[in-house]
Amino acid sequence: MKKHNFSAGPCILPQEVIIKASEAVLDFNGLGLSLIEISHRSKDFVAVMDKARSLALELLGLEGKGYQALFLQGGASMEFLMVAYNLLEKKAGYLNTGTWADKALKEAKLFGEVIEVGSSKDENFSYIPKGYTIPSDLDYLHLTSNNTIFGTQIKKFPKTEATLVCDMSSDIFSRQMDFSQFDLIYAGAQKNMGPAGTTLVVVKEEILGRVSRKIPSMLDYKVHIEKESMFNTPAVFPVYVSMLTLEWLQKLGGIAAIEEINEKKAQLLYSEIDLNPLFNGFAHKEDRSNMNATFTLAEEKLKDVFEEMCKEAGISGINGHRSVGGYRASMYNALPLESVGTLVDVMSELERKA
Ligand code: PLP
Repeated sequence: MKKHNFSAGPCILPQEVIIKASEAVLDFNGLGLSLIEISHRSKDFVAVMDKARSLALELLGLEGKGYQALFLQGGASMEFLMVAYNLLEKKAGYLNTGTWADKALKEAKLFGEVIEVGSSKDENFSYIPKGYTIPSDLDYLHLTSNNTIFGTQIKKFPKTEATLVCDMSSDIFSRQMDFSQFDLIYAGAQKNMGPAGTTLVVVKEEILGRVSRKIPSMLDYKVHIEKESMFNTPAVFPVYVSMLTLEWLQKLGGIAAIEEINEKKAQLLYSEIDLNPLFNGFAHKEDRSNMNATFTLAEEKLKDVFEEMCKEAGISGINGHRSVGGYRASMYNALPLESVGTLVDVMSELERKA
């Protein structure tokens, strides 16, 4: 039976990428050796790293604009501390839009003064704070573009002179925007790019070297830039798969093309949530995420029937996170529109049956 993977993670990837990746594990580039066995210093793998780095910049429209792309390890959680280690001298601002933003903020507190410029904790992070003031003396402002757990997404980014850092782990490469408004973007590869194990960091070089503390080599963006993302053994498989996904995206027509599909998927699901009296959306409408839709059932007694119907339709991974409850349908780049259609059919069938 065809499966429809709405899981929030670790990742969902295009089928053709999975096939190519499995082939490379058996025999990479016709070398008679596995991708994961060859030297990461070999010309075959260096070409993969170079391609992955340049494609990331190209797709984001940041080539030739003073940015460097790195594929690091330690997950997006490592960036919570690396950002502060490399950029926080005195004071940083954080917009607290949920669990991940909160974790990033807590890590930064180990390095200097941190202020919460805004927070939506008062309503269990169901909206994106607006109209907040950004002090003029920040070393940087940290935002989380998409809140994976709560299903909210920043639609309009603040205009600010402050150095802008953004965690785009769960919506990178999913929608068009002027990426040059950010000075540092990071995103765990999992979800829209590749298997867990590598993190994309895109950083404007001119913002580095401004802090007075000594930075351990592994945590120093400058070291990773100098070593072309090969300071230590890179996560060869996740980087290779990320490269394949970025090639897939480029062939599809880049971010503009995937954004159109993502809009269709989100509209289809949210209009069912709004029209069907059995479901309630969790996030405020204007802040709804196109990647993770969070919703609850109006009548708890229908839970078992709904879940059984989902199972029968091949729908998997829609259980909500414990902080929100209910359901979360994640619609990452590689999820076909057809899968959302299947979920919507089940939801309307439930209404007919109830
Ligand atoms: N930031 C966001 C927005 C996330 O969704 C996640 C994980 O889902 C993280 C950070 C943490 O990523 P990692 O598990 O790679 O440390």
